Amino acid sequence: MGKKELTSLFSSDPDRYYKVPLFDKVGFSRQVCSRCGKFFWSIVNRESCPDHETYGFINNPPTGKRLDYIHAWKEIEAYFRSKNHAIISRYPVVCRWRDDLYFTIASIVDFQRVMGGKVVFELPANPLVVPQMCLRFNDVENVGLSGRHYTSFCMVGQTCNADLPGGYWKDTCVEIDYGMLTTVLGIRPEEITFVEDVWMGAGAFGNSLEYFVRGLELGNAVFTEFEGDENNFHIMKNKIIDMGAGLERLSWITMGTPTSYDCSFGPVIEALTSITGTNNHPEVIGKYFEIMSGKIGEDYVMLNSSSEMRSINPVKSVIAKNMGMPEDKLARIISPYEAIYTVADHARTLLFAIADGSLPSNVGGGYNLRIILRRSLSILERMGWNDLKLGTVTDLHIDYLRQMYPELEEHRDDIKTILEIESERYLGSRERMYALATYIRKADKKLTIDDLIKMYESDGVTPEYLLEAGAIESIPSSFYTKLAELHSEQAAGQIQKPIVRVEGLPATRLLYYEDETNHEFEATILKVIDNRYIVLDQTAFYPRGGGQEPDKGKLESLEVDEVIKHGDVVLHRLRNTSNKLNEGNIISGKVDVQRRNSITKHHTSTHILNSAARNNLGPWVWQNSAFKDQDYGRLDITHHSALTKEEIERIEKSANDIITQNLPVSINVYGRGEAEQKYTFRIYQGGVAPTTNIRIVKIEGWDIEACGGTHVRRTGEIGLVKITKSERIQDGVVRLEFVAAKSALNYIQRLESSLNNIVQSLGTSKDKVVESILKRNEDTELYKKKIKSILRKVAPLIAKAVISEAKITPVGNVKIYSIHDEQLDDDYHISVGEKSVEIDKSLIYVAVFTKGEGISVIVFAGDNANKLIKAGTIAKEISVQLGGSGGGSERFGQGGGSIKYKEKINDALLSVEELVVRHSKE
Ligand SMILES: [Zn+2]
Ligand SMILES: [Zn+2]
Repeated sequence: MGKKELTSLFSSDPDRYYKVPLFDKVGFSRQVCSRCGKFFWSIVNRESCPDHETYGFINNPPTGKRLDYIHAWKEIEAYFRSKNHAIISRYPVVCRWRDDLYFTIASIVDFQRVMGGKVVFELPANPLVVPQMCLRFNDVENVGLSGRHYTSFCMVGQTCNADLPGGYWKDTCVEIDYGMLTTVLGIRPEEITFVEDVWMGAGAFGNSLEYFVRGLELGNAVFTEFEGDENNFHIMKNKIIDMGAGLERLSWITMGTPTSYDCSFGPVIEALTSITGTNNHPEVIGKYFEIMSGKIGEDYVMLNSSSEMRSINPVKSVIAKNMGMPEDKLARIISPYEAIYTVADHARTLLFAIADGSLPSNVGGGYNLRIILRRSLSILERMGWNDLKLGTVTDLHIDYLRQMYPELEEHRDDIKTILEIESERYLGSRERMYALATYIRKADKKLTIDDLIKMYESDGVTPEYLLEAGAIESIPSSFYTKLAELHSEQAAGQIQKPIVRVEGLPATRLLYYEDETNHEFEATILKVIDNRYIVLDQTAFYPRGGGQEPDKGKLESLEVDEVIKHGDVVLHRLRNTSNKLNEGNIISGKVDVQRRNSITKHHTSTHILNSAARNNLGPWVWQNSAFKDQDYGRLDITHHSALTKEEIERIEKSANDIITQNLPVSINVYGRGEAEQKYTFRIYQGGVAPTTNIRIVKIEGWDIEACGGTHVRRTGEIGLVKITKSERIQDGVVRLEFVAAKSALNYIQRLESSLNNIVQSLGTSKDKVVESILKRNEDTELYKKKIKSILRKVAPLIAKAVISEAKITPVGNVKIYSIHDEQLDDDYHISVGEKSVEIDKSLIYVAVFTKGEGISVIVFAGDNANKLIKAGTIAKEISVQLGGSGGGSERFGQGGGSIKYKEKINDALLSVEELVVRHSKE
């Protein structure tokens, strides 16, 4: 259904849909906009609707009250409390309860849960108001510049279920909101306009009233009333009111400051101007932002051009003209302010996101966080504010916001830690990104969207950076969509389900939930598919799910090698097809107890390790994914860096302490809302639970998670957990591999027997093994030295062969010898290369070979050749193509790349000639 159809549906009966008793009481009349035809309600007569109005409140607020951000909230909070609304704490800005959203984008999202593709509403109180911080990244380029765009803002969300006790419908809603505008903010009724609009979402729709004062939209009350489409709809059983009002705007209308930032960030802006020494030309700034944030400049541009305005630059030139100032002079005056506003906004967003457990990274929502973090750092750098740290800005925000959000105080240090790590990382990668951008620009390479994605995924080079560096002309509009698709495909690719027909079958009774220790059972066969898949009325077999591997065992004498769940139906797959099992038969089943017990111990171990990692590393640690098998387990956690040996040891020690304490593990089922309120969104470590009832697994005093897996009754049953490996598998994710219980013992015994083998082959004893190995290393060093001296002796001979094989280039007398041979190493190339260019001064010697996870590049250039191009330059350009960096002097250069670029080695070597030719022309 289109918005147009809905609008005409509602507009045709305004008395039914839009009119409320208050309008008659106070004297609002329905009017139509002469410019766009929209309907609106106002006390005074107006030509057009507020859409066409510029902001008439800047430097001239329409209210006697002046309410800064916190103050505005305190007054609004008291007002709604007096109107019997429950005031609830904000929800996390990281939206853990919906897997279709990374961040909380509106207050109503707090109360939405997605089930079977449908949105359901769950309100913890009725009616309620929440000061919900929301994150949105769709307008990042205007933030800090327009005077009114944000990446995070507080939505005052007034929400109620009209059909439950305490609920009300639009008459009351509009009356309450009108009271907020007139009594709390002190706005005269003649200033207020209500504009008719419609709203539609997933299968539901309703009408809405937006309210405006002097061109500024202050709030929007949505009345979700119908389900269905325009031809076939009915009134919902639980009608929902969702009124959202931006606190930044409510404060701004009373303060009338040149930008919304000046009042919404409290004392932060003033503090930053003083730290950076920015306080010139206050009259220019006041005037400029009055026009810019007041949309007056936009209005000029709109009048003078037909194209839709998106970029802020044409507005800037119009304002400069209007103020009678040269554009560049105006830009010099305003840019420090734009910088301060942008950094203040971005720091506040990072503050909330990190406090709520998210990390800047290259994956998921972390991507947006890293972009604004890097944008802030590059702004600070460009302005030369090297002493201003982002952590200082977040501190200033916390000092102000803790009156409203006291929980931020707890995370003050964590936030600084993350910002510092990320800032260092940025400085470290900047040089490489710069070299890469220069290479692309010089070589005039046209990058495809796949190139961009690859560079982003493997090197963290953002298209924004390449754009700024002039390496690309624009960011392909589908870049982010494609990136997102790539990741969603990866997520979906992990589930493999055979296609089987289970429609119409009743839900299988899950005996493993009723009594985990019951491994033998009898059941009736409900269906046999292809002589291989068996559906029973009940089962003790745990099916594959939640990262836990399935049970194996027997149905009668037949082996079960896979168990999966389709909706509510469990399917047992036989190893071999059989016609012995027939529908209607009663049969016995037996689960492989040893396998189950071992998987169970690995599962409870992931919960123990997850909390151990969080307690030892920081609150940003969440389970990213987990896998629990018979012989080992795997836990991927969100963390910023690879773990050190000490960190791994600390995590392992905490986990084993919990095992030794033999803590009880309890499993209880709660209503979803109850579980979330009681245990917070921390329960969603394994992702969202799409059910109204949630199974909570609690390790007393240690860990609480929503989980459908099997668990031990006390932690002591695990005996021992040993981390066998840890690696950073992607940006922001660290993998822990571990073994528990009997597998841990097996692992240690295997280690011991390897040690015995080593001891034997060294002909030493266990306590002297380290000494012995050190001795061996010394011997090896000695051999290396001998080889080197031999190499030096034969180098002149090899050099002659090298020179005769070198390729003549079109450039004068420069020759190139390039070699990629995995048998040869640094020592060889350094001896031979050096000798070769000494003999033939026109020679360029280029060698590439892999080394562990990397690629090494060695370049020598003879004294004639290096007049044209330095060895260091060649090393750098080749390394960049191989995903690394390099440099050096005229005569000798070296560098390296990543093994991921191995197939590019030959191309890189071939490009040397091109490089030489290009340099000869410069
Ligand atoms: Zn209009
Ligand atoms: Zn679990």
